[in-house]
Amino acid sequence: MAQTVFRTCSLCEAMCGLRFEVEGDQIVSVRPDEDDVFSRGYICPKGAAIGELHHDPDRLRTPMRRTAAGTFEPISWETAFAVVAERLRETQRRYGRNSVAIYIGNPVAHNYGALTLRAGLFATVGTRNCTSANSQDTSPRFAASYYLYGSSFSIPVPDIERTDYLLCLGANPRVSNGSFMTAPNVRERFRAIRQRGGKIVVVDPRRTETAREADEHVAILPGGDVYFLLALVNCLVVANRVDEVRLRRQVRGWDAVRPLLAAFTAEEAARHCGIPAETIRRLAGEFADARTATAYSRVGVCNSVHSTLATYATDLLNIVSGRLGAEGGAVFPTPAFDVTPIVRLTRADGHARFRTRVRNLPETLGDVPAATLAEEMETPGDGQIRAFLTFAGNPVLSTPNGRRLAAALERLDFMVSIDPYINETTRHAHIILPPASSLADDHLEVIVSQFAVRSVARWSPPVVPRRSGELSDWEILLELTYRLGGGPTGFRPLDWFYRHGRRFGIRWRPDRSMNFLLRLGPFGDRYRPWSKGLNLKRLKQAEHGIDLGPLKPGLEHGVRHKDRKLHLDAPPFIEALGRLRISLTEAKPADSLLLIGRRELRSNNSWMHNVASLMTGKDRCVLLVNPEDAQRLGIRDGETASLENHLHAASVRVELSDAMRLGVVSLPHGWGHAGLAEWQKIAGAHPGVSINDWTDDQRVEEIVGQSILNGVPVRLRPENGTAENSMDTSCGQKLSLET
Ligand code: SF4
Repeated sequence: MAQTVFRTCSLCEAMCGLRFEVEGDQIVSVRPDEDDVFSRGYICPKGAAIGELHHDPDRLRTPMRRTAAGTFEPISWETAFAVVAERLRETQRRYGRNSVAIYIGNPVAHNYGALTLRAGLFATVGTRNCTSANSQDTSPRFAASYYLYGSSFSIPVPDIERTDYLLCLGANPRVSNGSFMTAPNVRERFRAIRQRGGKIVVVDPRRTETAREADEHVAILPGGDVYFLLALVNCLVVANRVDEVRLRRQVRGWDAVRPLLAAFTAEEAARHCGIPAETIRRLAGEFADARTATAYSRVGVCNSVHSTLATYATDLLNIVSGRLGAEGGAVFPTPAFDVTPIVRLTRADGHARFRTRVRNLPETLGDVPAATLAEEMETPGDGQIRAFLTFAGNPVLSTPNGRRLAAALERLDFMVSIDPYINETTRHAHIILPPASSLADDHLEVIVSQFAVRSVARWSPPVVPRRSGELSDWEILLELTYRLGGGPTGFRPLDWFYRHGRRFGIRWRPDRSMNFLLRLGPFGDRYRPWSKGLNLKRLKQAEHGIDLGPLKPGLEHGVRHKDRKLHLDAPPFIEALGRLRISLTEAKPADSLLLIGRRELRSNNSWMHNVASLMTGKDRCVLLVNPEDAQRLGIRDGETASLENHLHAASVRVELSDAMRLGVVSLPHGWGHAGLAEWQKIAGAHPGVSINDWTDDQRVEEIVGQSILNGVPVRLRPENGTAENSMDTSCGQKLSLET
């Protein structure tokens, strides 16, 4: 007989509640949980397909070892752990601690067990070569928050339930359901803004799915965000729309920033962002006039050329206009699981405390830029990476110049991957350790609930029983840390206690750490028996979650600097502003065709392309090209064309789209599965091309070393084209800046 289990979807940031019908270990159906306190009956195609993912026959069930012929053979857990521990230990014995690198992928953000072990793993391995998906899209956000507010996890989110004016840059929440703005069913939430008479303005080089439902779409040049945002702030200053008395009470450093803004006039910004000066001035006025307003920028801004400064500029606009911490503005969440004290206590937070060996790029929140991986593997010398551990990541597809990284992986002494699939990255591993299905474990959203548009908490039980012989990902990590001589916490005495306590039945479990965090959090019972506050036991009784209310206005719970002020004058930003100001007159707007990425509703970064129901319909890995550009280049809809730059040239299928700004083309990210059919049949049958074959690992943003994945100069020409229509757009076309 089928059983009903309610559980939060762990595939993306939206935290949708799902209702599973289960028979034994078979998932019979997946539907939205109508009673979930946050998502209230919303589900997207990925969530509906989570059962297929669970039953995917290509998912690995047992550890695998790569053979000399490049195939994989199953091995026992004991053999796998013994080999991995010995090879990692041996590498560090011979070449030092930094000779082992770690890469952590995006799914770990939804895995509280693995997250809890992160500190223990990093302390055990003790390498500086730790990196993750962060430097593809979030390090600028963390660094901006670290300097402005005193914590990388103090991230203001749009109070979309109460705002009247939403300025949305480089984000497509209609498809993503929010990022650093956890909000299931964004479409309904945006409709509500408009129904109460509010306005949504989307600024993006493409008329995205979100832009189509907004009141206004402003087509900006890729990388132009920083000029646009600084010009908006400057417009407010020039028009005397800044309450300087309030501002000086709240901030430190306004006198250092204010003079630097003067150069960013609407006219100057227009040259660099492609938005007419009068539009910039009008939008600044609208933003200041609205009863409540918030500016929000995300991935498209975070992986463009001035990403960290542009993220700072987004917040500067909110701060200067009095929208930070105000109801309906950009508000710091109050999560039930507040990770900020733990991040501080473990000294994980920070920026530029050390730098990479080859290119001298800074760490952010303990991560070095992933764009440095290949060079750190290739360049001989003390600290060269010789062994690699990946966890739930596919950096060959998700980091710039993936082909170079793939070649470097082949030359490593040893590589181990914790991953359920053989993919473009893990195919290079000597050993793969596959975790059990996440649906066989309990679930808590800890990280993304830090950024939710309401305070909510929900614990989810396992949906299916775990198969015999399978280990969850946190159990794999725990065993690895023990075998490497460490433990789960990163504190030596505690790790020693747990490591040796195993013989006496003492077991470390991640839910105990979460209970501690919850009980001491803003809604916790603080271990007082009479308190009605939260603890894990109470949370488990609420099968549809607990709504803890709307965002709480104010600054005090978000600003962590000792002086309780917002710091506008951190040296990295003042210096970057100064450089940008000087380069204003020299820097020329882009005169080449610029490539940008694209997120899809039925795709989850580089995975979920092996799920049949998500892969139906027409080819999605197509290059969107403005019809005017296509006509000039002699390319027709549906044809293949050659996309080229200094790194790569390959055929891409072209789809004409007037949603694209003139001079900008777009490919979705996470594709490029050629050669994978042996291990992932469905993905291998729909290979597409990887956008990161054209992105350059040597071109990074200046403050955090963020990969620049948007605004990549490319050329496009017809295949078999004549000399006449094979125009090199990098030198033959000047873009119109007035749209
Ligand atoms: S939006 Fe995200 S959390 Fe919601 S169902 Fe889809 S994949 Fe799951």
